[in-house]
Amino acid sequence: EFAVATTEKHIFRSKLPSISIPEDLPLHDYCFEKLPEISDRPCLIDGATGSVLSYSDVHLLSRRAAAGLHRLGIRQGDVIMIFLPNSPAFAFAFLGASFLGAISTTANPFYTASEVHKQAKASAAKLVITESSHVHKVQDLGIDIIVIDETVPAGCRSFSELLSADENEIPKVDIKPDDVVALPYSSGTTGLPKGVMLTHRSLVTSVAQQVDGENPNLYFHKEDVLLCVLPLFHIYSLNSVLLCGLRAGSAIVIMKKFDLVKLMELVEKYRVTVAPFVPPIVVEMAKSEAVDSYDLSSVRMVMSGAAPMGKELQDTLTAKLPNAKLGQGYGMTEAGPVLSMCLAFAKEPFSYKSGSCGTVVRNAELKIIDPETGASLFRNQPGEICIRGKQIMKGYLNDPEATESTIDAEGWLHTGDVGYVDDDDEIYIVDRLKELIKYKGFQVAPAEIEALLIAHPKIAGAAVVPLKDDLCGELPIAFVVLSNGNEITEDEIKQYVSKQVVFYKRIHRVFFIEAIPKSPSGKILRKDLRARLAEIVQNG
Ligand code: AMP
Repeated sequence: EFAVATTEKHIFRSKLPSISIPEDLPLHDYCFEKLPEISDRPCLIDGATGSVLSYSDVHLLSRRAAAGLHRLGIRQGDVIMIFLPNSPAFAFAFLGASFLGAISTTANPFYTASEVHKQAKASAAKLVITESSHVHKVQDLGIDIIVIDETVPAGCRSFSELLSADENEIPKVDIKPDDVVALPYSSGTTGLPKGVMLTHRSLVTSVAQQVDGENPNLYFHKEDVLLCVLPLFHIYSLNSVLLCGLRAGSAIVIMKKFDLVKLMELVEKYRVTVAPFVPPIVVEMAKSEAVDSYDLSSVRMVMSGAAPMGKELQDTLTAKLPNAKLGQGYGMTEAGPVLSMCLAFAKEPFSYKSGSCGTVVRNAELKIIDPETGASLFRNQPGEICIRGKQIMKGYLNDPEATESTIDAEGWLHTGDVGYVDDDDEIYIVDRLKELIKYKGFQVAPAEIEALLIAHPKIAGAAVVPLKDDLCGELPIAFVVLSNGNEITEDEIKQYVSKQVVFYKRIHRVFFIEAIPKSPSGKILRKDLRARLAEIVQNG
């Protein structure tokens, strides 16, 4: 339940004028709206093979993927699961589903079988697209499996077969702005990961807020070459790299996985101009001496988001890349995801401060509230950040209760982040009210790991909280209560969790305690545990 606001609302808006945003274009038509002008320009460059696809190639292959999915029985409103690393096929699958009015749920290809099963079942995915090396994790789902590589394991279909379909077979579909197109999973402010329903309207609005309008160089433009190294299964890369890149008509260099030397080779080779990063990549780059051996002079902009980046780090990398501006964006899956971004990239750049997350996007409203009373706060006062606009999610899939406790009756999305707005409208994030742990920008939902721990016969209670870490941002650590008379070691617990989860959800330390502190209503008192952890760390 939300506390009721008692003071006049102080609402923050962009310093730039509002823009006109298409109201009823489906996402794929919006992204390809300028196709006639850019059809021969490079669109997707596969960093691994060097193959270059033009805008008309990508449009055609996405339409063929749509026709191929339709042949396999995918219809409007159906969910497909994209369980892939970055690759051109990811884009064809996502856009192909959009052409049909279908929905893509995206999942980390490094997920374990149990993690991917949970998401596939919860989203009712009808088909999964993956690589042959991950087939064993989805084999028992009982749905069609499409693999993108040449060797097709028994019982699977090949993605190239899908792409051989005739694009004219795409049926006429009436897609409404409020129809869901993307279903990433996020735990939001509390509990287990949930399906975040992002509609055609949400994503069109969010992309427009970043790249459309009067100030066309606000973010990307046609001459830009973007580096797509962040995983497309996360909404940051899917929206702010792929979709924004397509809308802007930029060339997008796809990297399957992060490797600093390969990254710098690609930047040099393709004269990359825009590099969207997360803080751990910035840290590696800032520390690396190899940076001086490559010609990175083409980079005009490095963006960082998904986790906090302090002023010192921002300044260190800025000094190494003299032609680049380094700024931050602030996103949350449920918010579409971008809430704010640095205005340094505008055609006529605004001044900006290191360490800030930029200013709120256009056509949106932001307020800071006192989490206790709900009253909106004025500048320089930290409180919970709330955002309102057409870009935010429609809600959580099949979970009206979680939706209602995240988006209030007035349409404000409560982020669970604590921040303030300074005298120049710049936003600073200072803390997190929500349970979420972020390891290198990846989400770790404490409730998910706690459920695994409690399922162990020797464990009676568990709570997972973050431990600050210079490289990873935060590490998940566990407080554990053993059930009567049982013994189990820290290592055994760590291994037990590791076997069941993707690498970033692993537990780094286990502390045994007598009881998990809880409120009278049974909520884990995470603040107390964080304080206890701080004490333990301080005492070595
Ligand atoms: P996700 O939904 O995975 O994108 O995670 C969203 C959360 O990541 C936000 O609610 C913040 O807690 C955190 N986050 C994203 N961007 C930033 C940023 N620039 N600085 C600090 N935290 C951030």
